[in-house]
Amino acid sequence: ADIGTDLRNSIRSIPDYPKPGIVFRDITTLLGNARAFRRAVDELVQPWAGMKIDKVAGIEARGFILGGAVAHQVSAGFVPIRKKGKLPHKTVNVAYALEYGEDIIEMHADALVAGERVVLVDDLIATGGTAEAAVKLLRQLGAEVLAACFVIDLPDLGGAEKLRKLGVPVRTLIGFE
Ligand code: IMP
Repeated sequence: ADIGTDLRNSIRSIPDYPKPGIVFRDITTLLGNARAFRRAVDELVQPWAGMKIDKVAGIEARGFILGGAVAHQVSAGFVPIRKKGKLPHKTVNVAYALEYGEDIIEMHADALVAGERVVLVDDLIATGGTAEAAVKLLRQLGAEVLAACFVIDLPDLGGAEKLRKLGVPVRTLIGFE
């Protein structure tokens, strides 16, 4: 099957999770399917294959699984972007708005040196708030953000568009309404 159909069929949709009216797109079924997992990892960075990538940055928690595999695939280092308070050494952080309140993401201050070429990875982009904060974090340390890659896009929420306005090329593999 074509890649879109193949990957789409490997994702499980869970109605009313984590709250009523939300359909949660669950990638654990994709991760558990060897063929789909390999295909998703290969396809995520396909446009940048052969380009020099210094680091892959993954967003906690599912971005760690996909980003770690992508980093190995392109022979890059891996940088975890985490929720506040989880990293043991000196950090830099960015706050971003949630539906109610705000959240903070962090990265080790020495995780990158200025000028390094970085690809950002997460499982899904919705409003783009999380990924936008991650791009700001990476740029704070002088990284060149080559691209942001997601398995799933929820295009109605405008996240990919938001990142493109920041000058970040966006790659997504499947869209869900
Ligand atoms: P955003 O900041 O609104 O773009 O939300 C994206 C973040 O929320 C990512 O870190 C996703 O992992 C997570 N997320 C939101 N909705 C879903 C979903 O349906 N499935 C899996 N992750 C989700």
